Amino acid sequence: MMKIVGASQLSFYPVHKNRNAQTITPFFNRFGSDVFVDSSLATVKNLSASSSIVSPGRTLLLDEQQQLILPDSIRRQRQKVLQAITKEVSQAVRQGKKPVFMTDFDGTLAPFQTNPYTCQVPKTEREKFFSFADAVHKKFGVPVVVITGRTVSRMKDFIGEEGIRRAQVIINGQSGGEMALPDRKQMYSMPDVTSVHKAQMDQLKQALKEIGLKTVEEVEGASKEPGPFPGVSVEDEKRYCVVVHTKSARTKNVAEAAERAVQKAMKKLNMKDFYLLNIEGGMEAIPKPYNKGNGVKAVLDIVRKKYGLTNSQLHPIYIGDGINDNKAYEQIAKIFNHPQDSYTTIFTGKPTRQTKAKYTIPNALHTGDVPAKSKAEEKYRVAVSQVNVDANFELMERLRQKIGVAWN
Ligand SMILES: [Mg+2]
Repeated sequence: MMKIVGASQLSFYPVHKNRNAQTITPFFNRFGSDVFVDSSLATVKNLSASSSIVSPGRTLLLDEQQQLILPDSIRRQRQKVLQAITKEVSQAVRQGKKPVFMTDFDGTLAPFQTNPYTCQVPKTEREKFFSFADAVHKKFGVPVVVITGRTVSRMKDFIGEEGIRRAQVIINGQSGGEMALPDRKQMYSMPDVTSVHKAQMDQLKQALKEIGLKTVEEVEGASKEPGPFPGVSVEDEKRYCVVVHTKSARTKNVAEAAERAVQKAMKKLNMKDFYLLNIEGGMEAIPKPYNKGNGVKAVLDIVRKKYGLTNSQLHPIYIGDGINDNKAYEQIAKIFNHPQDSYTTIFTGKPTRQTKAKYTIPNALHTGDVPAKSKAEEKYRVAVSQVNVDANFELMERLRQKIGVAWN
C-alpha cells in the first residue's frame, strides 16, 4: 500500500534539526504510515507529491549524501554478523583451507539501476574489489569469482578487463551458462544448451515484441508509444535468455499482466526446457541447465583442476542478495557436506525465511519493496540497494585486513 505525504505536511516539521531516524519516526507515525524523505530541509521543501514514497511498517530516511539512514538495531546486528563471518573464515584458514570467494554482481557488488545497462561499479569500489582479489590470489593462489546472470562481456564493461586479469578474477556469466578465466583465453560454455534452445529463444523474443513489449533501449528513449505494458522493458542481448524488467511498470497490474503474457507466450511455444526465474524487479526466461548452482559447480571444478586442489582444501564463500542465489547456496551445502568441510554462504538484505544462506547481513528494507517508476523514486531504490553493497565491501575489507595481518 502506497501513501503519499505532501510537501506541505512535511514542512511543518524541522527535519533539518533532526538527522536521525529515531527522532523523526514518531512524527511520521502520526500519519499512520511511514515515509521516505530527504533529511535536508531544502530538499523537503521542494518535494513534489511523487518524490516522497511511503510504505507501511518503517520510516526510512536519506541523509545529505543520499545514503539510507539505518535504525541502530539493524546497524548493530550487521556488525555482529560481519564479525561472525570473518571469524568463521579465519578459523577455516587457520586449518589450512583456501578461501574461494564467490560473489553475485547485481545488488551485491553494484546497486540496482532502472536501466540495466547503466549499472557500474564506481572507480574506488572497483579498486577495493581488485585489491581484495589481489590479496587473496597472492596469499592463497586462488582467484576470486563473480557469478552473475549477466553475460561475461557485459561484466568486462562493468568492472574492467585490466583489473580482472591483474587480480585473477573468474567470471561465471548467464547464471552458469558461460565462464571466462582470468587469462581470458579459455571460455567455458554450458554443453547441454543446444541450437533448439536458441531457436526457441528467438521465437520467444519475437513473440514478446508482437504482444507489444518494448526493449530497454525503446523504454529509455521514451520517444515511442508506451504500448500495452508501460514501464516494462525487455533486455534481449543474451543468446539463450531474455530478461523482462517490471520494476518500473506504471502499476502493479501492468507488472502482473506482463508476467502472465510472458508465461502464456512460453507455454504457447512449448518451452519445456526453459524456466522462468524470479529476479530482483523482474523475471528471466532461461534454459534449465543455466542456474547459479551449476555455475558454482563449474567454478569449483575449474579451481580444483587448475590449481590441483581437493574439496577438503577449500573453504567456499558465496555472497548474494536474492532468492535467485538459493541454487548457489544449496549447491555449496551439498558439495561441502562432510564433517571436515566448512563453507560460508551469505545473503545480504531484509531477513527472509526464503533464503538458503547460512548468514543474513540485515537491511531494513527489501529492494523490491521500493518502487522506481520515476527518476525521483529511483534514488530511494538505489539507496536501499547501496546498503547491501556497502556491507559486502566492508566484509571484503575485513577479510583483506585479516589476510594482511593475522594470516601472514
Ligand atoms: Mg543479485
